Amino acid sequence: MKILCVNAGSSSLKFQLYEMPEEKVLINGYIEKIGEEDCYWTIKKNGEKIRKEKHLKNHTEAAQVLIEELLENKVVESLDEIKGVGHRVLHGGEKYSKSTIITEEVIKDIEELTKLGPLHHPGNLAGIRSLQKELPNTPMVAVFDTAYHQSMEDVSYIYPVPYAWYEKYGIRKYGFHGTSHRFIAHEVEKLLGRKEYNLISCHIGSGASLCAIKDGKCIDTSMGFTPLAGVMMGTRSGDIDPSIIPYVMEKEGKNVGEIIDDLNKNSGLVGLSEYSSDMRDILSHSDDGDEKTILARKKFVRRIVDYIAQYYVLLGGCDIIVFTAGIGENSIPIRREICEALNVLGVQIDLDANQKRSEFVKLSTDESKIQVYVIPTDEELMIARDTVELIRNGNY
Ligand code: ADP
Repeated sequence: MKILCVNAGSSSLKFQLYEMPEEKVLINGYIEKIGEEDCYWTIKKNGEKIRKEKHLKNHTEAAQVLIEELLENKVVESLDEIKGVGHRVLHGGEKYSKSTIITEEVIKDIEELTKLGPLHHPGNLAGIRSLQKELPNTPMVAVFDTAYHQSMEDVSYIYPVPYAWYEKYGIRKYGFHGTSHRFIAHEVEKLLGRKEYNLISCHIGSGASLCAIKDGKCIDTSMGFTPLAGVMMGTRSGDIDPSIIPYVMEKEGKNVGEIIDDLNKNSGLVGLSEYSSDMRDILSHSDDGDEKTILARKKFVRRIVDYIAQYYVLLGGCDIIVFTAGIGENSIPIRREICEALNVLGVQIDLDANQKRSEFVKLSTDESKIQVYVIPTDEELMIARDTVELIRNGNY
């Protein structure tokens, strides 16, 4: 059965077509700069990459291109072969703790939740609507980035602010990257061959979050009401003292939106280093001795170690730590520096094993008190699996 996965952002649309249950990727594509003159897309099929350029006005035109590419590349002969479409959606609020078949009610809820995901939901919704136009009879599924974290208890998700803020405005920790952390939990369950385990999942890409997982369930996670919270990231600050905001507003004559923009786009690695948000640049520039970049690198590692230490205690010990996403899968020195700081917990890694990139690999030695692995994440596959499961259960 063929399943299409769609991740539509404000100006981009990523897609992947799977043959399920074999979990084979038949084609994938990435359409960028939708709405701009220099819009282009890349298609990957059988290891071959093709790039095309054409102005696409909106997501409707992008969805048309997606369908044309599937047909032109002969990965489907007729659109009826596509048995389901899974859409990545940022925010499911408190209502959605699982993926769900998209109905009119679900679309209304996603619209309503735009207040919590203002940067993502308009793109997510445009992706759903435009694919519904192209494939009107195909069941579609929404896979929420927040859903996995709904198992957190109130003591984890509540902020110590007036309780009425939670009741009136839904101010609480929601957490993000849930699909990735859930994928890692599934992999760990297979790896350990048991359902009982304490896992700290470290999704470290340009956006980064950690998740404390007990027996498959999220107990706590580092992102919060928005993806700005938690550890330091490529361009985001992560947790800071909120009193900094009005102070700098006054000093720089900026409004609150401009300061939040600084915290989202001009902080983290790029903010401290004043050089780059890309970890590859940070590594080479700090190795060359640039002081601000050295500080950025140290702070980046420190924030992750802080959270691992916190989750170690929360979980009552830890069986396994997993690194994933761009930096977690590829950045050898950052993994080494994090694990060195965890020596105190009995973590020991094999430096040769740590030379590997983008591979499922065990980093810890046999003497290590906590197992440490790199497991490449695959959110699209998780979306495809959820879509298959829901359309089967829904008798479509
Ligand atoms: P996102 O999906 O959040 O945009 P990614 O998971 O793709 O981010 O991660 C991007 C990050 O991964 C960048 O900081 C990039 O420098 C880092 N990265 C990718 N490859 C390497 C590498 N070989 N060494 C170090 N960092 C890498």
